[in-house]
Amino acid sequence: MGKRKSSAKAPAKAPAPKLDTQFNCPFCNSTKTVTCTMDWESEKGRVECVACHEGFDSPINHLTEAVDIYSDWLDACENANA
Ligand SMILES: [Zn+2]
Repeated sequence: MGKRKSSAKAPAKAPAPKLDTQFNCPFCNSTKTVTCTMDWESEKGRVECVACHEGFDSPINHLTEAVDIYSDWLDACENANA
């Protein structure tokens, strides 16, 4: 009997089908106040904080996710502070 004890547990721990489109603001540190809008016609994306109205624009393509623009913004903030 060559039956192996297979512990092939399915890694069923990824209940995140939805990508986040709300982020924390790096300026006023509010939680989930940054929202993203994508204008596919002009291929521009924008993230903006509804609390302090700081924002950031970035060119987008069909692969761009909201979080990409957001992280671009964070990068830009870091560069500005450097
Ligand atoms: Zn803010």
